[in-house]
Order: sequence, then C-alpha cells, then structure tokens
Amino acid sequence: MTVRRLRPHATTIFSEVTQLAVRYGAVNLGQGFPDTDGPPSMIEAAVRAMREGHNQYPPGTGVPELRHALVAHETAHTGLVHDPDTEVLVTVGATEAIAGAVLGLVEPHDEVAVIEPSYDSYAATVAMAGATRRPARMVRSGDRFRLDVDSLRAAFSPRTRAVLVNSPHNPTGAVLPREDLEQIAALCREFDAIAISDEVYEHLTYDDNEHVSIATLPGMSERTLRISSAGKMLNCTGWKIGWVTGPAGLIAGVRTAKQYLSYTAGTPLQLAVAHALSHEDEWIRALRVQMQDRRDQLVGILTGLGVDLAVTQGTYFLTADPRPLGVTDAASWCLELPEKVGVAAVPFAPFTDTYSAEWSHLVRFAFCKRPEVLAEAGRRLQGLAT
Ligand SMILES: *Cc1c(COP(=O)(O)O)cnc(C)c1O
Repeated sequence: MTVRRLRPHATTIFSEVTQLAVRYGAVNLGQGFPDTDGPPSMIEAAVRAMREGHNQYPPGTGVPELRHALVAHETAHTGLVHDPDTEVLVTVGATEAIAGAVLGLVEPHDEVAVIEPSYDSYAATVAMAGATRRPARMVRSGDRFRLDVDSLRAAFSPRTRAVLVNSPHNPTGAVLPREDLEQIAALCREFDAIAISDEVYEHLTYDDNEHVSIATLPGMSERTLRISSAGKMLNCTGWKIGWVTGPAGLIAGVRTAKQYLSYTAGTPLQLAVAHALSHEDEWIRALRVQMQDRRDQLVGILTGLGVDLAVTQGTYFLTADPRPLGVTDAASWCLELPEKVGVAAVPFAPFTDTYSAEWSHLVRFAFCKRPEVLAEAGRRLQGLAT
C-alpha cells in the first residue's frame, strides 16, 4: 500500500540482517551504534533536567543553551561563526536535518546529486520531496576510497539544486581530502547549487586524517548547510539530538519543513547535550583515540582471515572485500554469516542502486563495539577458516 515514490525504499537488507542476528544470537557488527554510554556528566545533566521540570516542548529552533553551545563548539573546531538565533536549528537527529533541508529547499522539478554509496536516508528523502536524484560515485583509489570527480560533474546540470556531501563517509570510511571537497565546491558555485553536508563523524578521524568542512571553503559558507549530531559525537544515538547550521535564508527553509515534521523534541536531552558540548571536549577527543584502537583491533582480525580491507580514515566502519575467501556476492554472504559463524555485517547493497554492480562484493563491518565484543567476533570468524 506504500506510495509509489517510496516503494523502492520500503525494506532494506539492514532489517533482514538484524532479524537474522537476533535469531542466531550473532555478534552484530552490522549496526553502526556504540555499545557504551556517553560522558557520565551528560547522563547526569539529562536526569537533572528532567527532575528540575524541563519536560515540555522546547522552542521550535531548540533550547537556547544548546544553540549557543553548539555554535561555540563549531567555531572552536572549524572557525565558522553562526548566529545562534537565526543560523542554527536543532533537529531530531541528523536524519531530520537532512530531510528538512531537502523538503524545505528542493522543488519537485529540481535535481539533487547524491554520491553513491550513500547513507540510506538520502535517496528516500529525495524521493519524498518528489525531486530527481542524480547519482555520482566514490571510487577505490589505491588502498582507500575517493570521490570520482568526473561522475559528480556528470551528475550536475542547470536543474541541480543541491548536492548531498558526507565526509567522513559512511559506509567506506573515507575522509574526503580537501582537493575533492574543492571540486564539489567548484561545481556548487558554477551551478549555483547548495551543499547539504552530513558531518556526523566530524570528530572521528584517525591517524593524520583531518576533517575539513566544505562550509569553510571559499564561497561556500553562504551555500552550505552543515549537519551534525550528538549521536556519533557523544555515544548517544538513541537520543536523536542533531542540528544544522548555515545562512539564515537556508535555515528558514529547513525550519519551515521541520516545524511540520516533528516540531520539536527532547528538551532535557538538548540541555544535556549542551552541557556536554561545553564541558566534555576531553571526552570527545578520547573517543577518537578509543575508536582508532577499535579500528586497529578489527583490522587485525579481518586481515588475519585473509580479507582485503580499504583503509578506514574515519567513521565507525571498515570496508571489507571478502573475495579472497571465495565470496563474490556480499549480500548472500551477509545473510548466511549470522547462522554460519554467529557474526553479522551488512553488504554495500542498501547504500547504492545505480552503481550496485560495482560494489556487490563489498561488506561493511562496524568496529564501534567494546574490545571484548570485537574479540568474540574474531573468535567466531575463525569458523570461516575451517
Ligand atoms: C548515523 C548517521 C546519520 C544519522 O544520524 P542521527 O543523528 O541518528 O539521525 C546520518 N548520516 C550518517 C552518515 C550516519 O552514519
């Protein structure tokens, strides 16, 4: 009964893999959420806010404490300066910020460039807006993934209203280098398009990789919506506190759509995130080191099995190529794994459609789990060798 424009997005292999993981008691490295809590002071701040009676609707744009804290945090980390009253909007996770941006700023006759593989909400959101999605793609370049700039140029046209950018990138684990972002920015300026930049992993970059926000490139602050979220920054994906910053004119469009999607949510959680952004920079820095160690642990496990890996520069994810194990169809392998060895992972399939054939052999493993959980996954994966 689902409307035609959403039918292609009705079910994904994510839910199938999750069901199988539950049925077989698998260690679930398919889902991208951490299994430890955020800073204790943040949890206490949420409890305190509830006890002190902050339990009713917050202002439509978000509680002022959070809007002020997040612009200060953004300035400290990127140098961008936004007005907490007109250039910031608190949303129900990054997901609602993305949906609000597309629904509030893209007309049905417009086109949106989407770089595959991409977070699964992008395609569905463009479909909800009734707009046309124009695919571009990432490519494997040596031991990592980069933007295929030519494919993005081909995806732009005079009808392009927006490009959805995501760096650090889920699912490949790539951190787009400044040169790639400059190419995207040049296309945005040439075609007078906006960048909707999903930066939820902005603090999770490893080794000497540095996150650059496309909003900081020349001519881009006036045409970029920068989206982030407390979920990945502070280990609270279930709180769904996200935000978007950008020029007032663009924020007004997002706000208009958001007003009728959720209106508002999470007053005490917004206050707690405000506290964490002001007091827990050290914790956020430590998380990055911790996640890098987790990455290295899972790299060790998968490399030991003979799986080929792309270098993960950021995010929660490793891209694995299991063809050395004789696997060619990642989707059917991922459906077998929970029963066969008691581990779950997801294929690239739900992140792509136009270019799905190019990535049908790739699998995404999440490493945002406790070391003992990764170690148990490692023991179970030994079953593949026998
Ligand atoms: C997790 C994730 C999101 C969703 O963020 P929420 O704040 O939970 O809505 C958006 N984009 C990417 C790339 C993600 O990995």
